[in-house]
Amino acid sequence: MEKLVLITGANKGIGFEATRQLARAGFTVLLGARDTERGEEAADKLRGEGLDVRFVSADLNRAAESGAALAKQIGEEFGHLDVLINNAGICDREDGPASSVGLETLRRTFETNFFGAVAFTQPLLPLLRAAESARIVNVSSGLGSLAVNGDSSSLFYPVKILAYNASKAALNMFTVDLAYDLRDTRIKVNSVSPGFVATDMTNHRGTHTVEEGVIEIVRLAQLPDDGPTGGFTNKEGMVPW
Ligand code: NDP
Repeated sequence: MEKLVLITGANKGIGFEATRQLARAGFTVLLGARDTERGEEAADKLRGEGLDVRFVSADLNRAAESGAALAKQIGEEFGHLDVLINNAGICDREDGPASSVGLETLRRTFETNFFGAVAFTQPLLPLLRAAESARIVNVSSGLGSLAVNGDSSSLFYPVKILAYNASKAALNMFTVDLAYDLRDTRIKVNSVSPGFVATDMTNHRGTHTVEEGVIEIVRLAQLPDDGPTGGFTNKEGMVPW
């Protein structure tokens, strides 16, 4: 049976590179993007490299509707989904410290990074259940770690941007609770921290390349059946919650 992966926010950055790596590993990749032109262009580029990649519309601003439409489309064509990578995310320019960040910024960020991921995932669960064994990878961040944020002696003292950090902490809770919910299924759910990666989100100031940033995402997408569920890791190992 064809191995199928769906990646959101895959027209650029980490999602684009994950698409390339998983297609090279033999997956048929559905490259999700909210903008048709940007999505088609990205998929064309990877097809030009000889890879099995197709653009699909995945818009987290209308996540439930978008997830349901894709579930219908994938169901009709493939009947199952092996891997879902919730990668799309934003870091708002107006984000800032807890004492002053605006509620609109908080709401906007949660809308994509948390509500978007949850609402998009739910309609796809029947297709993941229909796979021989399935994986959900939630692209979180070390900035979403309560343990790291709460440790003032940590060498990695995080950037204190409340909206982004809290939205990724909430996404981590989705990982843990969904993994628990699905504990008797063949679906594994994990969070990943890609590290500080040079993409548009970081104005290309990240210290990791996209190739380094996707290592753990690609590994979690291909976890063996005896692999973990409900975890939070980066390419070095476990990240504290
Ligand atoms: P980019 O800004 O390069 O890419 C973000 C992707 O998400 C784009 O494809 C963007 O689409 C898409 N996206 C944003 N909002 C929506 C939406 N509402 N609906 C659908 N797609 C959307 O960022 P990165 O590649 O760096 O980030 C990817 C993931 O990795 C994010 O979840 C981010 O939080 C996480 N991450 C990144 C780190 C880094 O250092 N770069 C560190 C830790 C985590 P469009 O092009 O249309 O805007």
